[in-house]
Amino acid sequence: MGCEPILEPHRDAVGLTDGLDLTDLPNGAQWNGRIAYLDRDGVLNIGSEDYVNSPEQVVLLPDAGLAVGALRRAGFRICVVTNQSPIGRGHWPSGTLARIHARLRELLLEGDPDAHLDLILHSPYAPWEGAWARKPNPGMLEAGRQLLEAAAKDSNLVGLFIRFDDDWTDRADESGSVMVGDRGVDMGAAFEFGVKAIRCDPSSGLAGVIDKILEGAA
Ligand SMILES: [Mg+2]
Repeated sequence: MGCEPILEPHRDAVGLTDGLDLTDLPNGAQWNGRIAYLDRDGVLNIGSEDYVNSPEQVVLLPDAGLAVGALRRAGFRICVVTNQSPIGRGHWPSGTLARIHARLRELLLEGDPDAHLDLILHSPYAPWEGAWARKPNPGMLEAGRQLLEAAAKDSNLVGLFIRFDDDWTDRADESGSVMVGDRGVDMGAAFEFGVKAIRCDPSSGLAGVIDKILEGAA
């Protein structure tokens, strides 16, 4: 890493290291350390070349809620990692994205009461900013791991300082984790981070690859 400041991932409506309350895993299961890092558009909901610009435009892919619920029942925590350049391009403010994500959470839980998203991280930067947080760079995955591990111990995240790239040396075992996406940038971020990449078809999304993920996790 050079002397450039790291352009970090963002969370909806709060600072990156503000408190994070995790919802218990289903059936009293203990977290086994696995994280399912999920791209958003083409994985959970239908994407668009013109972006998803409002809560009304959020349309889930078939059985997306059931697939997220199945991951959590298998002991995964869920970290959504989504590039959101419309913010950096000035199309709309981050508050719009927070409302879009509130709708996404609501629809997933309608599909399956276990389908909680433990954490949603986004990169608000435009492509030309070269952000470490923007896929195919792995900054969102790096932050996701550190945030979820810290929150599992203490939801207040007191003293948490997120490290990136070569500054983060004590990395967790990601051999049981997966990154699911529908595009090359998702596969690139998975490779850079060092986690198994699973590419889904954007017309079927997560539900189209859930059996493959769960077989690999068994
Ligand atoms: Mg996508």
